[in-house]
Amino acid sequence: MLTIREYARPKTMDEAMALLKSNKKSQVLGGGMLMLKLGDKTIDLGVDLVDLGLDYIKPIENAVEIGAMATFHEIETDPYLKDCFSGMWSDAMKHIVGVQFRNLATLGATAYSKYAFSDPNTALLALDAELVMYGDRRMAFDEFLAKRKRRFDILEKIVIKNPETTKAAFDSIRRSKGDFAVLNAAASVCEGKYRISVGIRPRVAKLATGAMDYLNENGLTPETAKTAAKMAADELDFGTNLRASGEYRKAVTPALVERVLLKLL
Ligand SMILES: Cc1cc2nc3c(=O)[nH]c(=O)nc-3n(C[C@H](O)[C@H](O)[C@H](O)COP(=O)(O)OP(=O)(O)OC[C@H]3O[C@@H](n4cnc5c(N)ncnc54)[C@H](O)[C@@H]3O)c2cc1C
Repeated sequence: MLTIREYARPKTMDEAMALLKSNKKSQVLGGGMLMLKLGDKTIDLGVDLVDLGLDYIKPIENAVEIGAMATFHEIETDPYLKDCFSGMWSDAMKHIVGVQFRNLATLGATAYSKYAFSDPNTALLALDAELVMYGDRRMAFDEFLAKRKRRFDILEKIVIKNPETTKAAFDSIRRSKGDFAVLNAAASVCEGKYRISVGIRPRVAKLATGAMDYLNENGLTPETAKTAAKMAADELDFGTNLRASGEYRKAVTPALVERVLLKLL
């Protein structure tokens, strides 16, 4: 059972950080509590970000800012995002459980928690997203995934560049509707630069950098898509969990990656 002894609703980011640091067993409440409430845990002080206005999706010059508390469903259905990234965000979100669930889960919670089973994280990696932490500390998402987290931190927003000129695609393999995916993949291209990420390997999403270099040199055609997809499967490592074996994941990666690459043509 989850127990929260004290609850606070700060009105500013500075106040939220001060509260967080005031108690060793404090925790940010910045999502729908979907994962938090699954655990058996006692939090001395829950710092709820709900009054900080972090639930926005805001186009700025050559980028879009997504507040950490924007929900999956807001991102899936946002009219501006629907016209950006070839509509990838809708594809990345629409298979996650159901609408009521997606109205609670937030992008900030899934990105900050580096969940390996995440669909949005694979999309964020392919889009070269930037995380903006408390105090305007900025970090590329791939760098964030590779680093240890600070004990006290707050993710404020996620910035994705070139929303109107980036082509992108996302796809996943699920054994049944509403279940976690067995594997997912995303790809993007902007100004001739390709990115490919594969997630739920079952480890956290990773870039297939060799396959990306190959496409950057040779361009994308149906033939190079096939070769790059095979390269991605060869260069990434895969593991086994309850949903699928590492061998299965490796075997289906070429088909999944080729599928997302072909959508960029
Ligand atoms: C049954 C089930 C099925 C699921 N299926 C899928 C799926 O198919 N695909 C998928 O992608 N995901 C799936 N998820 C994950 C889900 O979509 C959410 O990503 C996840 O539950 C986190 O959601 P939340 O917003 O409720 O976060 P919470 O549980 O509220 O928070 C998670 C963590 O993030 C921290 N946090 C939240 N916001 C911030 C912030 N701004 N700064 C710093 N830390 C913060 C919290 O302190 C907490 O530690 C599933 C989850 C469940 C329970």
